[in-house]
Amino acid sequence: MPNVDLADRSVILITLDSCRYDVAASAHTPNLRRLGPLLRAESPGTYTLPAHAALFNGHLPRPVSGPFILDGYSVDAIWRSAAARPSKRRSAIRFDGPTLMTHYVEKGYRVLGAGGVTFFDASDPANHLPSLFPDFLYFGRPARAPVTTETRVIDREERLPLAHTRALAESCSAAERFFLFVNCSSTHIPYTTPWSPLSQRNRDLLRRLYRLHDGRTSGSREDPLTKGDIRVLLKMQRRALEWADSRLGDLFSRLSERRPLVVVCADHGEEFGEDGRFGHGHPHTTVSTVPLWCGLLGGG
Ligand SMILES: [Zn+2]
Repeated sequence: MPNVDLADRSVILITLDSCRYDVAASAHTPNLRRLGPLLRAESPGTYTLPAHAALFNGHLPRPVSGPFILDGYSVDAIWRSAAARPSKRRSAIRFDGPTLMTHYVEKGYRVLGAGGVTFFDASDPANHLPSLFPDFLYFGRPARAPVTTETRVIDREERLPLAHTRALAESCSAAERFFLFVNCSSTHIPYTTPWSPLSQRNRDLLRRLYRLHDGRTSGSREDPLTKGDIRVLLKMQRRALEWADSRLGDLFSRLSERRPLVVVCADHGEEFGEDGRFGHGHPHTTVSTVPLWCGLLGGG
């Protein structure tokens, strides 16, 4: 197979929802490391909606170390919209149109999305993101379902999009070229995966963490989390990332012969009380600092 221009490759774009950079740096992720070095990047959004709106317009989290190597070339960005302001920054792929998805649809790609957090539930008329795709699969809990401890602190398994890598890969393989987006929810609270099911201890910790997310501050809480509690919760997110890495290994092996461009990043991180708040949606270094990997599968 001759070299394929980067702009004509199939694409796998993954967001690891809420995954902190320091968690990614401490995790065992052999499949992600195959793509290239872990890059420390800054997200343009502090929660799912703005981060993905920017991402779908080509504004991925930007590596803090500056230009990075992609397909042997030093670039500042992977995609660049024709609508972006003039810049000397080097981008690998220029595109026209309102989103990456419209660009790839117009090029004749099979464009498919999959999501796991409630912003991607198309059955909720308030949600805009899934409508940006011609086909979108949602696996998470219903966005409009009553929110209680019982509906939030749960084992998820089949509700995780990366539990469905076989079906996603088969759908992509049916087309000559594809653009596959997956919002991975395993790294989002409650961090449960088939590798890390609920126990009595982490169930209690998650209930308390949800209360802190809802209150946004630990300042006057009666039930603060100890440093040991937070270590356990961060370990849960790390284990959720390692499960995602395993599932991505399966996805990559199914699609590597198509030699896709692969980009994996978090949409935002989250704060675990470093400066008194928990969760995301507010400006803080741990919220804006995210992991990023990018590379090519199946050789150049
Ligand atoms: Zn998110």
